[in-house]
Amino acid sequence: MLYTGTMTEDLFDILHNTATPPVYRYFSGGSWKESASGKTTSVYSPIDNSVVGILQVVTPKEIDDAIETACNAQREWEQTPLNQRVKIMHLVADWIRHNEQYLTDLLVMEIGKTASEAKSEIARTADLTDYFADEVQSIRGETLDSDNFPGYDKGRIAVIEHVAYGVVLSIAPFNYPVNLAASKIVPALLMGNSVVFKPPTQGGISGLHLARIFEKAGVPAGVLTCATGGGSQIGDYLVSHPKIDMIAFTGNSDTGLAIAAKAPMKQLLFECGGNNATIVFPDADMNLTVKEIVKGGFSYAGQRCTAIKYVLSTPGVLETLLPQVLETIKEMVAMGDPRQDSTKLVGPVISLATAKEIEEVILEAVKEGAVVVSGGHRRDAYIEPTILTKVKPSMNIVSKEVFGPVVSFIAVSDMDEAVRIVNSQRFGLQACVFTKDEGAGLKYAPLLNVGTVQINGSPQRGPDHFPFLGVKHSGVGVQGVRYSLEAMSRLKSVVINKPQ
Ligand code: NAP
Repeated sequence: MLYTGTMTEDLFDILHNTATPPVYRYFSGGSWKESASGKTTSVYSPIDNSVVGILQVVTPKEIDDAIETACNAQREWEQTPLNQRVKIMHLVADWIRHNEQYLTDLLVMEIGKTASEAKSEIARTADLTDYFADEVQSIRGETLDSDNFPGYDKGRIAVIEHVAYGVVLSIAPFNYPVNLAASKIVPALLMGNSVVFKPPTQGGISGLHLARIFEKAGVPAGVLTCATGGGSQIGDYLVSHPKIDMIAFTGNSDTGLAIAAKAPMKQLLFECGGNNATIVFPDADMNLTVKEIVKGGFSYAGQRCTAIKYVLSTPGVLETLLPQVLETIKEMVAMGDPRQDSTKLVGPVISLATAKEIEEVILEAVKEGAVVVSGGHRRDAYIEPTILTKVKPSMNIVSKEVFGPVVSFIAVSDMDEAVRIVNSQRFGLQACVFTKDEGAGLKYAPLLNVGTVQINGSPQRGPDHFPFLGVKHSGVGVQGVRYSLEAMSRLKSVVINKPQ
């Protein structure tokens, strides 16, 4: 079934032709264009495999043109007074809010998020944009005197400013194609960069809508490009382009590694995969722990980088925990069509192919001795909320990032073993620790080699002004409102040598 939202078509008409299903234009140099490639890629809804729309695959020449225009436009954009850039971003937030329902419906069809989760992504994006625009006003440079350092007198002064990198390539993932696009585009633009935005294929239609909103809010021609085409089709050309100064990427760790290898000497800001652990101390508040495990493991069908993927505790604690988790799944989760209000947390995963891969990993774990105590079955692109016990940390179900509604229970002899397991993983995004003794949690947190430890709460990105980062293969650099603004700019110093 084709997307048939009705609220604000006029604004978005320009994005596509009148064919069924519509073919979407790409955005470059301030206009909506048809690619000379003749190549397209279809976006299939995970709900029912229908074609939501068709994206064009831009050519290398079109990429060159867009990046050249972005380079030229950047200089003037950086000179535009900050207060004007701030106004434009507040307008972006307003336009997002104004089109909230339309964008929500589109997200539901395009990536299969439940209606409430999609709505919250859109609302959060508007709030984030406003917050960025407010926070940027407090980013300021400094001056340094020279005589602090031995051997120097007061003869010099350094004037240090935050300046733009130049052209930032922003690559967003399918699971938050609006929010994690804006979380890169907005700070990059506020700090005076121009942006070449490559949306994910699935989520690409939503990404084009977002680009239209930036255009409508007043971002000048050339400052923002939205270049469509599959990562495997246009990705290498984009990331290795000599005129791209910085890459802000969110996606799979393997994609991140491949991009990093092709982008030598470019500034990188990467958010990658995670297989986040929950560690339950014997004194934990079991009601809270159970609810957080279910919410953290199954929201958006487990397709969040911060989703809980495994639970570590001693056998006695797991014995108490498990029946409560199974009971709570019945209350908090209802798998189904994400357009229906009756569906709770678990809709389809992003594609039939992904669902089949997840099914394979579950079956493999079972062959290796794991036991399915809940769920475990696939229907089309839908994977039942699944709990596995008797899991070993070396099994792929834990050590690979399984991007679906699957949580593994692993018995450990003590909390030290839990630390060793977490620290032996390839990923290091977040972990959470449940204990009524927050002091013990605070002492334990530094032992875990991850970007963030949550005490008595499931892993999550927000609130968005908190620092957000991953270690090991989970990322490079730090994001979060102020941290993103700093990351999207570099320091430039001018040293005044005072007349003698
Ligand atoms: P993905 O397959 O790595 O794709 C991410 C983006 O990279 C998409 O736009 C994709 O385009 C593009 N891409 C693929 N190959 C490329 C290449 N060779 N060069 C340049 N770009 C390329 O990830 P995903 O499946 O969309 O997203 C899920 C992953 O993102 C999970 O691993 C999740 O943990 C991670 N994630 C991390 C965070 C975090 O904050 N740490 C947040 C959200 C998601 P196409 O779609 O066209 O292939």
